[in-house]
Amino acid sequence: MVQRVLLAEDDEVLRGQLIDLLTTRQFVVESFGDGAAALDFGLNQAFDLAVIDLGLPKLPGLDVVKALRSAGLDQPILILTARADWHDKVQGLEAGADDYLVKPFHIEELVARLGALSRRAGGALQTTLSLGPLSMDVKAKSVLVTGQALTLTAYEYGLLHLLLRRPGQIVSKSELSDHLYQEDLDRDSNVIEVFVGRLRRKLAAVTAELRIETHRGQGYRLIQQSAS
Ligand code: CA
Repeated sequence: MVQRVLLAEDDEVLRGQLIDLLTTRQFVVESFGDGAAALDFGLNQAFDLAVIDLGLPKLPGLDVVKALRSAGLDQPILILTARADWHDKVQGLEAGADDYLVKPFHIEELVARLGALSRRAGGALQTTLSLGPLSMDVKAKSVLVTGQALTLTAYEYGLLHLLLRRPGQIVSKSELSDHLYQEDLDRDSNVIEVFVGRLRRKLAAVTAELRIETHRGQGYRLIQQSAS
């Protein structure tokens, strides 16, 4: 699945370079030039990794990291610091960052670090997600409903995975398409609707306990209801 990176960097030149390089490496980049906007996004939208400069206008990077962690978000966070001051790094790591890079750095180095962080997180993340009678083995990419295998296409699986990560919460169409597709061209909400419809029928065929609700203009929500 495509990795969505939250990038907070106020240096426009560096930000542009990071966006270009990460995009060519199949990351989807959501970039912000100040800490407040980055935090607002981080608290309200899904992302897989974050790259946060410590020296940011409006809200320091350190506060962004702290706020994301105190909100319970556990995605890997890499901090960027302009100073080689050990104090900055220690503070950043204590605030909950997973790794750091001191500027100037080679952009390739950042890509390598992000790859390592996402692999580590992938290994450390829960390998089984479940809701009611459904359980998903994230490593094996398999889904069981009341003990029986549910056969899904890659897109249906990806969609279910995103909904299952936040059961009971509305996941927006744009968030789903950002995660499921790499190309802007494919971001057609009708396509998402087709996948949701297919997934909904497959679930309905095996259980009455789980339902995917459509919230017009907002998105979709996976809920568990009593089987009666
Ligand atoms: Ca800065």
